[in-house]
Amino acid sequence: MMTSKSRPSRSYDVVIVGAGPAGCAAGLTLLKRAGVRVAMIDRGRTSSWKVGESLSPGVRPLLDYLQLWSRYRDGGSLVSFGSEAAWGTDQLTGFNFLFTPHGNGWGLDRSRFESLLLNAFRERDGVVLQPGRVIGVEREGPGRMVLSAEVDGQPCSLRAKFLIDAGGRNGMLCRKMQGTRVGFDDLVGVAALMDLPVNSVVAQVTQVEAVPYGWWYSAPIPDGRLAVVLMTDADIAANLKARHPQRWLELLKRTRHVRQRAAGADFCEMPRVVSARSTLLQQPSGEDWVAVGDAVASHDPLSSSGIPHAMGSGIHGTLVAADALFANGELARVYAEHIHGDFRQYMQSRRRHYLQVSRWADHLFWKRRCDTIRLDPAAKFESISEASADLASVHLAKPRLNELLKVCCVGQPVHEAARSFVDAFPGVPDEKVILALQDLVFSGHAVVRNTIR
Ligand SMILES: Cc1cc2nc3c(=O)[nH]c(=O)nc-3n(C[C@H](O)[C@H](O)[C@H](O)COP(=O)(O)OP(=O)(O)OC[C@H]3O[C@@H](n4cnc5c(N)ncnc54)[C@H](O)[C@@H]3O)c2cc1C
Repeated sequence: MMTSKSRPSRSYDVVIVGAGPAGCAAGLTLLKRAGVRVAMIDRGRTSSWKVGESLSPGVRPLLDYLQLWSRYRDGGSLVSFGSEAAWGTDQLTGFNFLFTPHGNGWGLDRSRFESLLLNAFRERDGVVLQPGRVIGVEREGPGRMVLSAEVDGQPCSLRAKFLIDAGGRNGMLCRKMQGTRVGFDDLVGVAALMDLPVNSVVAQVTQVEAVPYGWWYSAPIPDGRLAVVLMTDADIAANLKARHPQRWLELLKRTRHVRQRAAGADFCEMPRVVSARSTLLQQPSGEDWVAVGDAVASHDPLSSSGIPHAMGSGIHGTLVAADALFANGELARVYAEHIHGDFRQYMQSRRRHYLQVSRWADHLFWKRRCDTIRLDPAAKFESISEASADLASVHLAKPRLNELLKVCCVGQPVHEAARSFVDAFPGVPDEKVILALQDLVFSGHAVVRNTIR
């Protein structure tokens, strides 16, 4: 077996893992500084279509900064005038981009958009390693990162003074470093691409429609195609068998608005499941690495800001890299505070959005997002029963719930039980744990006295 010492080795100042919007924005920003050797490694395309097709107007200043605005503007994206949603009620209401500071948004061909970014990186003397895959990472010492990788199918080592993880929400790199990724939900998209009938006219807006088991969206993209995506939780999607094309079509037919837009359209990409979890990396950077884009914080597509957010954080992350390479590295702390503050705001606005839907308060998807904490964290357990077959919570899967029950002790305050559990399972957010404890109290598996607020 080849070790990192025996593999062919290439050296750079900075290696970026992932050539999505975050990685490309980071790479293009670094190349504004003369003499920095930057390489970007990416798996390359596994499918011609990448999900995430609505670009909000806020991307314009970012593309301006990267000196790509005019190239993008002339590249054939569809103008989008906003969105309409059947959300709090089953009637569609609109939101018009024209009232925002940067005017209209766009319906994107994502692959084309990312090729534009990657080509600009290449033209400006960035090194592109594609198809490439990072398998592992070692830190030999300060400023000496070694990645084990495959490039064009050949094993190699990539040496870098600094590493940028732009590997997306499923990226494994930061976890290998020391990061805990906290997952706030198990949202997935069951996404299909459809060819619209010739000469059909579809309004150039993204359309969103809430349903009892989640929500659907559809967005027109160039070349007469429509992206149609069902958003729900992974377990609900599995129970609905939503990834089977026939079943997906049956569910689509039961929508009120999205089915009308997709009328007469045929699949050009069959439904496939993609992760859309909201996640936060607890430690966004280290002495010689930083995570950017979805790798550091990923948002629910309902926010429709994933791409600009990823690009903004890619640009921001390079300041951390430059500070580590050329100054004292203190910016890492500011970056961490910014990421955490921004994510708190995002979670509040996500909650406000979901709370607008009260039609299906008892349905699993909505209950998970709209439940409120009514259990006093200072309340003490008076009794706790053994795990039984009817033990259940909408907030934690059964094996985890059993573990939660095990850490609860009579006389102990609720918040202490929650803390012990989070110490053992750091990927679960505090709020979910308290809500699961509340379910245990409501179902009689645990008793606390006079403490439901
Ligand atoms: C269903 C859905 C719909 C969405 N809709 C929208 C939308 O309409 N508008 C919007 O703005 N945002 C949308 N988003 C969000 C948006 O797609 C993401 O926020 C954005 O892609 C994040 O960019 P990124 O560069 O951080 O990560 P990614 O785009 O995920 O890029 C990561 C890259 O890293 C590569 N990579 C990962 N690990 C490795 C490795 N070990 N070795 C080599 N390469 C690796 C991957 O191949 C990939 O190319 C949507 C997301 C989902 C799931």
